[in-house]
Amino acid sequence: MQIIDTHSHFNLTQFDGDREEVIARMEAAGVGTLCVGVDEETSVKAVALAGAHKSIWAIVGQHPTEWYQAFSIDAFTMLAQQPRVVAIGECGLDYFREQEREHVQEQRVLFESQIALAKETDLPLMLHIRPTQGTTDAYEDALDILEAWKRGWPTMRGTAHFFVGTKEIADRFLALGFHISFSGVITIFPEYEEIVRHVPLERILPETDAPFASPLPWRGKRCEPQYVLETIKKIAEIKMISLQDVEYQLTKNTKEIFTI
Ligand SMILES: [Zn+2]
Repeated sequence: MQIIDTHSHFNLTQFDGDREEVIARMEAAGVGTLCVGVDEETSVKAVALAGAHKSIWAIVGQHPTEWYQAFSIDAFTMLAQQPRVVAIGECGLDYFREQEREHVQEQRVLFESQIALAKETDLPLMLHIRPTQGTTDAYEDALDILEAWKRGWPTMRGTAHFFVGTKEIADRFLALGFHISFSGVITIFPEYEEIVRHVPLERILPETDAPFASPLPWRGKRCEPQYVLETIKKIAEIKMISLQDVEYQLTKNTKEIFTI
């Protein structure tokens, strides 16, 4: 397999009707994926899917908007130790909606429980950080938390999934040793060109977030992991590097950080 979509959700109900067919289409396109949990139930499913398919690896964790569900450290410690589990997440802070901003404290506790688990198991973090529109508030809070943890965990690493921050925010993640993940939205909105140009190719990971956020030309339709090829094409175009070289480097980055 040449390409790995570093963030998707075959574990969600959107794929209940045709999951195996979509996985077969992905494999036929030469693409594999990291299947990301958003709570305990979907993390269990991610581990099962990774066990059944050579093209899938699992990431286990609890999404920040699931702050109202208890986080079972015992269950997640067990899950993190299963074969083909390559990271903890998606975890972080989500301030996009007001109802989530009212629960920053709960989100923060949930996030730090998962940083502790990642440290304990020495796995990378798959971060979901979504700021209030037009701001970088959640990024700044998450970076403050991560920078404090880094002092006691020098090998801390991971990626900022679905990155929508500024150059300054990207630089803080890079200084911490994190990667930056770009999704299909970079094929739609020209305002991402500058940030894609700014982040070194060696520190970029490609992703879809399937079933969400289809790139052009599938905008508005259910997203599938092989559509990551469109995001990779766009990165090559923006950076003016050959598609072959970009594919090679992004896959190398992915395999290194997730130890695949
Ligand atoms: Zn996701």
